Amino acid sequence: MLPLRGARPAAECSVADPVSGFGAFADGGLAWWGGREIVDLRGLGDVFAQPTLNALMAAGPEAWREAIDAARAHDGPRVRDARMRLPFDVADYVDFNASREHASNLGRMLRPEQEPLLPNWRWLPVAYHGRAGSVAVSGTDVVRPRGILGAGAAGPSERLDVELEIGFVVGVPSSGPLSTADFADHVFGVVLVNDWSARDIQAFEYVPLGPFLGKSFLTSVSAWVTPLALLEERRVEGPEQEPAPLPHLAGGRDWALDLDLELELNGQVISRGNARTLYWTMPQMLAHATSNGAAVRTGDLMATGTISGSEPGTEGSLIELYGNTRFLADGDQVVLRATELGDVRGRVAQAAE
Ligand code: CA
Repeated sequence: MLPLRGARPAAECSVADPVSGFGAFADGGLAWWGGREIVDLRGLGDVFAQPTLNALMAAGPEAWREAIDAARAHDGPRVRDARMRLPFDVADYVDFNASREHASNLGRMLRPEQEPLLPNWRWLPVAYHGRAGSVAVSGTDVVRPRGILGAGAAGPSERLDVELEIGFVVGVPSSGPLSTADFADHVFGVVLVNDWSARDIQAFEYVPLGPFLGKSFLTSVSAWVTPLALLEERRVEGPEQEPAPLPHLAGGRDWALDLDLELELNGQVISRGNARTLYWTMPQMLAHATSNGAAVRTGDLMATGTISGSEPGTEGSLIELYGNTRFLADGDQVVLRATELGDVRGRVAQAAE
């Protein structure tokens, strides 16, 4: 096992902007990453002595602003490196498919005889419910999953891949629908996500109900949650949407995020993209997820889906970068990075016997 580490300065990468955010020590209590060092917040009181961010996240926007100010001003112990745990208890995990380029690229590969974008795609942010219990913190090894790879074929996945995504974390719960305008009152912050994917298991199982075991073995998130308030300067207008969204999806286009992204494999950056290319924005995802009356809970994680741009070299997965010619080998090291969000690391471990 690699030691579990939080986001660290990476002098060699171009996505080197300072990251600030809240995390949780493996041995309990909350931490603040101020861009250079980890500040121990346990001296700030009860909510900061909790094992995870959930109590702080549930406290609402005013408490979040106070917590940011308190963390920045806090004169607590400094540490250069520490073991960090998953920063929040995940309630539910939803993964969207909000990048038009990614949806089109995968559509071409999975359904070569058809239009790459299915007819529903421009009318709603397509998503599936993932598995909350296998979300883990950056630094966790990904054990090559076993599964059914096709008709009559079972064994370790031969097409293990990454998916570079960002995700938002719900703080304040709701008992029913939320509008796009409610986004910043309910969502605590944003994390970087690697939705590890076994393409062979996925391709055989996904019809007609969507991803299952090809995705549920591990999803890695950054050790730091960046509060929404610290992403204000990164907000930009999302891409044009055609047809015009239906009423519950009509707002929220001012919440695209200008965050540079990097995908590194074994020390080499192999892709550079930007989160602003996502077709659907995070407020639209939250509004859609609750539009049927579904409640959200503190700790709900909603990820965007793989972020791929339109230019070669901006793809967020290996299957898009290399066709079907290069997947992850045992021992491979993957690092995803995003401006403001830090990194997500993982090493491929051989399949269990
Ligand atoms: Ca995904």
